[in-house]
Amino acid sequence: MSPAMSGGGQAVLLKSYLKALRLPVFAREHEQAARQCTERGRTYEDYLELLAGREIAAREGKAAEKRLKQAGFPSSKELPDFEFAAIPSLNKGRILELSQGRFIQKKENVILVGPPGVGKTHLAVALGREACRKGFKARFFTAGRLVTTYLEAREESRLLKLEAGLSRLDLVIVDELGYLPFSQAGSEHLFAFFSRCYEKASALVTTNLPFSQWPQIFGGDERLAGALLDRLTHKVHIVDIQGDSYRFRESLKAKEGGEKEVH
Ligand code: ADP
Ligand code: MG
Repeated sequence: MSPAMSGGGQAVLLKSYLKALRLPVFAREHEQAARQCTERGRTYEDYLELLAGREIAAREGKAAEKRLKQAGFPSSKELPDFEFAAIPSLNKGRILELSQGRFIQKKENVILVGPPGVGKTHLAVALGREACRKGFKARFFTAGRLVTTYLEAREESRLLKLEAGLSRLDLVIVDELGYLPFSQAGSEHLFAFFSRCYEKASALVTTNLPFSQWPQIFGGDERLAGALLDRLTHKVHIVDIQGDSYRFRESLKAKEGGEKEVH
């Protein structure tokens, strides 16, 4: 080292190198890490490993944040917020297994079926968020929003662009299939969408309708509903959630609590 490069000059140079290399954690923490390693008698390799490990962790955290943002979740509900005891028929182990994301690696689908208020959207969001943290690219749509997105893209001649964007996803969540029936054009887009997903990405669908009633989503078109179910259920985990509405029960509890206070 030349004498001119000692002290402040060296610090400035090092900072510019680390900036050029895009290593913000190294830049921010190298001095503190060096002191720490000296005090503890650690080797140069320990020092390098410590900083590189922190840099990687920060990078992964940022990437996960970006994936979570791009997924467009309607809430930040998580699995630990889900009270499994409220739905005794639901197998907690099965949901935790799904949260590991192996079904996404294997391009399998998940269908959460059950009446309103039993936590289907909560679980879909929570599983999707977990998938984002595990490195998968996910996107959340309500079925209605997905169909509108397709119809708008078609009108504006951007179907190819839309499909190119969707084809980069590992997991597509389609919430509330069955709440609204679709037009013929809407039904066909939805069918085309699931056909494209088939064996390329995983779909996680929530629905209030048993499969026998799916034709009514597609304007009574039994053939379309059958063909769609055929693709969707080829490799599928069906989670049937039966129980009372959580929201309704919570409001009852609150009411009972309120009344007790009055008496
Ligand atoms: P669904 O999509 O089946 O209609 P939601 O997931 O929207 O039901 O649930 C309704 C509300 O109740 C949400 O705020 C959700 O977080 C909450 N909820 C439902 N089930 C549970 C549960 N078992 N534990 C905690 N919160 C729940
Ligand atoms: Mg819902």
